[in-house]
Amino acid sequence: MSAIPPLFAQCTDRRLLSASPKGGYNAGMHVILNDAEAVLFDLDGTLVETDIDFSRLRAASLQLIAEYGIDTAPLQEMDALGAVEQAVNTLREAGKKQESAELRQRAFARLQAMEMAYCASPRPVPGMYDLLHALRSRGARIGIITRNDREVSLRTLNALQIPYDLLVSRDDVRQVKPHPEHVRVALQQWDIAPARCVVVGDYWMDVEAGRAAGCRTVGIWRLDVPINPFRHHPPDLLVRELRELL
Ligand SMILES: [Mg+2]
Repeated sequence: MSAIPPLFAQCTDRRLLSASPKGGYNAGMHVILNDAEAVLFDLDGTLVETDIDFSRLRAASLQLIAEYGIDTAPLQEMDALGAVEQAVNTLREAGKKQESAELRQRAFARLQAMEMAYCASPRPVPGMYDLLHALRSRGARIGIITRNDREVSLRTLNALQIPYDLLVSRDDVRQVKPHPEHVRVALQQWDIAPARCVVVGDYWMDVEAGRAAGCRTVGIWRLDVPINPFRHHPPDLLVRELRELL
């Protein structure tokens, strides 16, 4: 077994604990969250485990895109949503407005159906409830920022009874992560300064969205992910598990 590479961004006093004013939950908190008025979490892979097969989402999207006569070779390395957005723009720029809108609508419907199936049995990531309740007990707002469909996200949140104040799904923005729009929508809604908000996610797009909006960021390099997904987008804090934030 290969050794885990050293982390490049860790706080030194990372287990600053304090008692919960309400008790009941473990209200200890990592120092980066101490003065946060709001914490925005990615959903899949960060708060919950789902069975989303991203390569199959991409394959299904590329198949649909090809039906519109677009060369999919340059899109092979992109994620499903990125490929769809690029293809939609290509059609629009070619003056094919109707096809562009139709492709977007069909692709989103197909992705929603697949995501619905993959997210049928979501499971909480260890430490998720303790962390969210600890944030709640301190009065911090909790936002969910996800590239997932709104309906799928709501089902997941409801199925696991996840406490949250705001959901910003892909249906709620014009540009999805890594664009900062998800983050800006939440901050505007709450009238909270970016410096008082922390963005937490398991992929570089989460960190990039948070950084671009002016927030502090936490990257979770999951233990089942062999290559550091944040190697080109270092967060303010890198952890291997969500529960390290407790
Ligand atoms: Mg994720």
